[in-house]
Amino acid sequence: MAITDLESLIERWERFFYDYYKEEIEEASVYYPERRSLFLDYWKLSIYDLELAEYLLENPYRSIYCAEKAIKNTIDLPIHFRLKNIPETKKVEIRNLRAQHLGKFISVDGLVKKVTEVRPKLEDALFECRKCGNTIKIPQQENILVEPVECYKDQGGCGRKSSFKLLTEKSRFIDAQKIELQESPEGLRGGAQPMRVVVYLEDDLVGQVVPGDRISVNGILRVQARRSGRIKFSEFNRVIDANSIEIKEQAFEEIQISEEDERRIIEVSKDPLLVQKIVASIAPTIYGLEMEKEALAMQLFGGVPKKMPDGTRIRGDIHILLVGDPGTAKSQLLRYISELAPRSIYTSGKSSSAAGLTASALKSDEFGEGNWTLEAGALVLADLGIACVDELDKMSPKDREALHQAMEQQEISVAKAGINATLKARCALLGAANPRLGRFDKAATIVDQINIPPTLLSRFDLIFPLTDKPDKARDEEMATHILEAHKYGERLQKEKNLEIEKMRPFFEPEFLRKYIAYAKRNI
Ligand code: ADP
Ligand code: MG
Repeated sequence: MAITDLESLIERWERFFYDYYKEEIEEASVYYPERRSLFLDYWKLSIYDLELAEYLLENPYRSIYCAEKAIKNTIDLPIHFRLKNIPETKKVEIRNLRAQHLGKFISVDGLVKKVTEVRPKLEDALFECRKCGNTIKIPQQENILVEPVECYKDQGGCGRKSSFKLLTEKSRFIDAQKIELQESPEGLRGGAQPMRVVVYLEDDLVGQVVPGDRISVNGILRVQARRSGRIKFSEFNRVIDANSIEIKEQAFEEIQISEEDERRIIEVSKDPLLVQKIVASIAPTIYGLEMEKEALAMQLFGGVPKKMPDGTRIRGDIHILLVGDPGTAKSQLLRYISELAPRSIYTSGKSSSAAGLTASALKSDEFGEGNWTLEAGALVLADLGIACVDELDKMSPKDREALHQAMEQQEISVAKAGINATLKARCALLGAANPRLGRFDKAATIVDQINIPPTLLSRFDLIFPLTDKPDKARDEEMATHILEAHKYGERLQKEKNLEIEKMRPFFEPEFLRKYIAYAKRNI
């Protein structure tokens, strides 16, 4: 039977609910109004009524409207209809969202970068006509208030052009929140800028996610007019109206480990020289620094957080600080680790982003239209991974304060205006800093020359001072090593299958990344 008009679509939904979803509907009516949503697994729908399911993906606004009408007809309650588990083919990456997806049901994965405070949004606006006093109802869909053009006769009005007064007490509001979703950094090797998309959440979906959460949003892509004052632009913004959200719990979901990979991982793990081999796989082009590299290897794996009987939590991550003279390969090592780690963020202490290293609550116009907005900083985005922070000594005073809690409790609390949240920051911190005067002064002790307060310094488990002392033999060896690396690099460009043991990481980075992810996930 073809789906032709709204009436038949509503009927079809009623039939589906009656035949296959009776229990769930009854349950929804029992829990109303504490729960206001009915969730439907796409897979279940497609088994019983494939045509209805496919129609839903192609015409989501219409279908959701009719499904909710059907629920209302059945149990007389305004319950949201929410779809879960939508097919893989509807998964779109944020950077691939295009005009063809407009008005269609899609699912996008990403990292929550910002959230606004929850605000009441007009759903049905009631206006009073200043001429006849009649009340006119205008349902609001856009984010810009729609007012009556005249006092509509079909709503019992006088039919004249008039001016209207908004009756806020009689209008109906729902909770609304905007979030900004960003591509996960794992998918972005090679320093590409992450793309973002704004997602609108309504009613019982609000307040569920905090910055730093990794989620899937199932919803509908639509355009939103851009305006600045009275000017309207012909280019539109794209936003997603969320229909449902799924918060991901599993770490490193994005790293695929095949059965073959697993076999190799288990085989390699039995090697008695494993530690040395892993260390030899870290930045082989960098000469020396064996102890530092071993520490970094340990940091990549980390330990296991422990929960004590009294409720305290002991972190499992190792924090490392490299502090040293300029040109001692600190930045190089940080870059290397951030590429190698299954999940990482590379940033500078003096980064330009308002959220900085920890988090910020700001009144934002660009994103929140004057809303308070909570934005995640580097340590939150690197949750369950490694935050590589170069020039750590140049961080803002605000971050300096917040870093204490972030490093020890591995969470960041923000309480400001309408925002009160605790963000997870279960990451290892790898920092690099220069000595106070740019170089170490031989006459003073090293600790006195690190431009980081002692309280914060004590949060690091390992601090490596890297000095650049002139030493003929060592400098010569290093110079040879660097020259060899260049020569090797040049030959590598010409000859694809070149075998030179020295500059090659023992395990290739892709494999080591999988090894680390496997260890962190399972062991
Ligand atoms: P820093 O951040 O400590 O000031 P960089 O990481 O920017 O230093 O390194 C400066 C340059 O010196 C880089 O090109 C790096 O490869 C080189 N370099 C420094 N130390 C070493 C080393 N031990 N082995 C190989 N190259 C090195
Ligand atoms: Mg540097």
